[in-house]
Amino acid sequence: MKAVIYNGPRDVSVENVPDPKIEKPTDVIVKITTTNICGSDLHMYEGRTDFETGRSFGHENLGEVVEVGEGVDKVKKGDMVVMPFNIACGFCKNCERGLTNYCLTMQPEKEFAGAAYGFADMGPYQGGQAELLRVPYADFNCLRLGEDARDSKKQNDYVMLADIFPTGYHATELANVKLGDQTVIYGAGPVGLMAAYSAILKGASRVWVVDRQADRLKLAESIGAIPVDDSKVDPVEFIKSETLGLGADNGCECVGYQAHDPTGKENMNVTLNQLVQSVRFTGAIGVVGVFVPEDPNAEDELSKQGKAAFDFGMFWFKGQTMGSGQCPVKKYNRQLRDLIVAGKAKPSFVISHELSLEQAPEAYDHFDKRDAGWTKVVLKPSK
Ligand code: NAD
Ligand code: ZN
Repeated sequence: MKAVIYNGPRDVSVENVPDPKIEKPTDVIVKITTTNICGSDLHMYEGRTDFETGRSFGHENLGEVVEVGEGVDKVKKGDMVVMPFNIACGFCKNCERGLTNYCLTMQPEKEFAGAAYGFADMGPYQGGQAELLRVPYADFNCLRLGEDARDSKKQNDYVMLADIFPTGYHATELANVKLGDQTVIYGAGPVGLMAAYSAILKGASRVWVVDRQADRLKLAESIGAIPVDDSKVDPVEFIKSETLGLGADNGCECVGYQAHDPTGKENMNVTLNQLVQSVRFTGAIGVVGVFVPEDPNAEDELSKQGKAAFDFGMFWFKGQTMGSGQCPVKKYNRQLRDLIVAGKAKPSFVISHELSLEQAPEAYDHFDKRDAGWTKVVLKPSK
């Protein structure tokens, strides 16, 4: 089969690799019909992680079940399914509590928890930017979809259930966004846009989205959020001026450790500290942007060690709270699927490009450069 293979920093190619096989009776094989490129892939693509060369990318996967292990009961050959990016067992201490983002079984490294397809430091699993994908513990890890999911266009909504729609929603849960709240979101990438969309679905009264990419800010505006261009205004001052000097009720970090100022200079603490400043006393902050324990290619010494110069004094003084980490996709994907089915959510609005698997290398190049108009790429490996 064909798969998108990582060859080294900013170098991917589509290669012929062996087909995945059923390795345990609880596995299925899925023919991937829609799969996305994610901002998380870019950290790996840029060589900012220890992702192995020769391995495939892709953790936002949807397709048709083509082979079923003997121990699989619920999922059937021919079912259309979407998989959370997290791979989870369902029976460990964390999975039992719904924390499939930190499954203890699927992660072979003792000091880590949590597994994913085609992801650095999250187990040895191959990615789904490929024609076929092996899904472990398939009854637990597949969310079944209706017949309408055979339609390639409908898949563009459902595939967002693999990661960014639940992740954006999770950011608003960590930030405790409720009816009538005023919420500020840093980052208008696909994840930030999904956080804004989720806050609006929850009934937030005003949602600001901070970024400097005009095309992304425009998308934020198209769903009813208020765009804030931080290359033109100081976002902290702006939010304060809009909230009687008090700050937003809560905020979401949807950028991650490669946050930078509008000129491109990286500063791992910038969005964290701006959140502390622009969220009011006692407000909550949800951090879903990825941060890492070490970043050898960072520009400064502190960041190399995964440490941020965080304004903890002000954070404590304001009595704020903060939640962080990978999203437990399974906690939300069924409910969000049903919003799509009912026509109440249409997360495909973030998609800018629908391409073939062969076009993945050029898509990575454009998406990585944050070229204007490249918001979210979906790939269609198989029909
Ligand atoms: P992306 O790279 O497309 O978007 C990031 C956006 O942040 C860009 O538009 C960029 O212009 C903007 N930005 C950079 N610095 C900024 C700053 N200082 N202030 C405001 N905006 C700034 O990525 P994405 O796909 O939207 O993902 C965002 C983050 O979420 C990434 O770190 C990704 O790895 C992470 N992520 C986390 C989870 C999870 O489970 N926690 C899941 C998916 C993605
Ligand atoms: Zn992702």
